[in-house]
Amino acid sequence: MTMQNRSFISPSDVIALEIECAACRMRMTYLASSEGELPKVCPSCSKELFPRDGNWTAVKELKTALEDVVRRKLNNIRLEVTTPLS
Ligand SMILES: [Zn+2]
Repeated sequence: MTMQNRSFISPSDVIALEIECAACRMRMTYLASSEGELPKVCPSCSKELFPRDGNWTAVKELKTALEDVVRRKLNNIRLEVTTPLS
């Protein structure tokens, strides 16, 4: 049986998005609050990070929406997350 700990975080608690390249497993971190553009290809192996149609756009929209919610100081939104207990 897997035990899970459930927690709530506010959008401003998210400090970065981590993206892992499916081809070479390189992990890259992008600050959630930065205005920087998400890359389309891995800086290590040059493979597309999200080759399926629409996936890169979905990740970009997630980052943009998170930035917008934090900028608007919408403090009445909480995200529920699960963390496996080790
Ligand atoms: Zn790669």
